[in-house]
Amino acid sequence: MKVSEILKNKHPVLSFEVFPPKTSDSFESVKSATEKIAQLHPDFMSVTYGAGGGTSAYTLSIAENLKNQYNVTTVAHLTCVSSTKEAVGNQLQKLKEAKIENILALRGDIPEGLEDRSQWSYHYANELITDIKAAGDFCIGGACYPEGHVESETVAEDIRHLKQKVDAGCDFLTTQMFFDNNVFYNFLYKIREAGITVPVIAGIMPVTNGKQIKRICQLSGTYLPQRFKQIVDTFGSNPDAMKQAGIAYATEQIIDLYANGIPAVHVYSMNKPEVAAKIKENLSCII
Ligand code: FAD
Repeated sequence: MKVSEILKNKHPVLSFEVFPPKTSDSFESVKSATEKIAQLHPDFMSVTYGAGGGTSAYTLSIAENLKNQYNVTTVAHLTCVSSTKEAVGNQLQKLKEAKIENILALRGDIPEGLEDRSQWSYHYANELITDIKAAGDFCIGGACYPEGHVESETVAEDIRHLKQKVDAGCDFLTTQMFFDNNVFYNFLYKIREAGITVPVIAGIMPVTNGKQIKRICQLSGTYLPQRFKQIVDTFGSNPDAMKQAGIAYATEQIIDLYANGIPAVHVYSMNKPEVAAKIKENLSCII
């Protein structure tokens, strides 16, 4: 099924994200974790794409397995930076043959040391979206950044580019994680004003590793509210306590989003079935 159909027909929507293995050694353990998450019956699952495309076959096989064995709608991520038109065309053909109808189209992070962009086939995600649109009847998602993408000078500039991306053929957007719902509500207001009308799925990260999240937030410029900082500072060195507090914080964010009319939440479940299960349980009377 297409994600656009799910978003049209079901409220509220809850989906989970998983990532493929980096090497064949971990394939079975990753596959098993994703299967446990599929058994929670999320509305859909998305499978990320390794930077540079080296693990593209794993993205495809994990997504195909979830769809065929567990009847879960899947979204395959696809990045284009440092890729070629031919490689993208091949991956699209494989997705079509596997009957995967949904693609999250991304530029990807620019690999270090690859500064000369003159020979690249793709510079931004909107170019990839144009090619996907021409290749078949896919439902296409794009990424968006409530606090602005790190490369953009201002949120306004990022929203101008986002509008271009959506106009190229996005059916929905999924946000980068955020820890303050007001940041998301303000962003939503701004993009609606800019004429972006597609559904926006709120991306929520249940934090289970305090140290890691501080580093990620420093790199991505994600705002950590004082209330959340207190939690990380207090429980960050106790993994079980951090997991419990992180899940509780994420649950509270999700309930607030649904209560304020946001119809869809995507949980960055990071191949952790126990985290996905707890979130689902916490929302059992709501979804
Ligand atoms: P774009 O939309 O191309 O934007 C990148 C930057 O360029 C922005 O600053 C934008 O404002 C600017 N820009 C866009 N168009 C133009 C233009 N025409 N002219 C000038 N500037 C422009 N990475 C992975 O490697 N694999 C994944 O599976 C993956 N999944 C993700 C899922 C989500 C929901 C999110 C939010 C991110 C994901 N990422 C993933 C990370 C993503 O690849 C990086 O954030 C990357 O740096 C930007 O990708 P994008 O598709 O948003 O790029």
